[in-house]
Amino acid sequence: MKKFILLAVLALALLSFAACNNDTESGADSGTDSGRRTLVMGTSAGFLPFEFIADEGQGVIGQYAGIDVSLVYRIAQELDVDVVIQNQEFVGLIAALQSREIDFIAAGMTIRPDRAENVNFSIPYFTTGQFVVVRQDSNFHSVADLENMIVGVQFGTTADIAITDGQDDGVVTFQEIARHNQPVTAVLDLVSGSVDAVVVDAPVARGFVAQHPDTLRFFYDHTFFGPEQFGLAFHLDDLELLAEFNAVLERLLAEGFVDYLYEYYTDKLGLNE
Ligand code: GLN
Repeated sequence: MKKFILLAVLALALLSFAACNNDTESGADSGTDSGRRTLVMGTSAGFLPFEFIADEGQGVIGQYAGIDVSLVYRIAQELDVDVVIQNQEFVGLIAALQSREIDFIAAGMTIRPDRAENVNFSIPYFTTGQFVVVRQDSNFHSVADLENMIVGVQFGTTADIAITDGQDDGVVTFQEIARHNQPVTAVLDLVSGSVDAVVVDAPVARGFVAQHPDTLRFFYDHTFFGPEQFGLAFHLDDLELLAEFNAVLERLLAEGFVDYLYEYYTDKLGLNE
């Protein structure tokens, strides 16, 4: 009996030690059993070709793949850190970073001064802009043509901001701005006819049109949208982590690694047709 109690006490002690250990490891920049840091990357994995859930066994980090995922995988290799992915809605990513639920964001996030008040952006790694996806049988060729129409956007994105600002500034009045948590549901509504246009980042728009070549097309309205650049985002206090990522990112950009990833994924996903 004595032996049993002793064992039970030992087991309990071990368990509580493991629990404490776990607690200290769950924060940002935490270590793992192997002594390597594990960083939690926040993303919103419905954004082809930047982040998506891969086919069984094809994931680059966990079950995820895409330009951002492969870029981060490579940076992590060079920094000798492990990365795990937290997949969530785009609109909540900055709050998750601020509360340190995640260590950084890699989500095709556009660098904006208002966002930069709450996060530190890396050097830019991709330049793009907003496209408007419409049905082929529609007559829309500019945002002004969308007066009184229903426009779909992903909640909290630069598409949402541009469309909302356009309306608030009286440039154009929409019947409704349909805010979706994922761009794909907005596009499904466009295909079925309950939405008239979807505004989304150009590479993602190209992908949707490639998936529905007989139904959809896109246009760009340079009077309404400007260029955008993607950055990884870090907690305002994590200047060292930012510098570490920037150093590797700068070298990878110079080597053309992001261009390579863009080609690779658009080809692989058939988004170029
Ligand atoms: N680039 C856009 C933004 O930052 C959209 C990003 C996304 O939907 N993942 O708002």
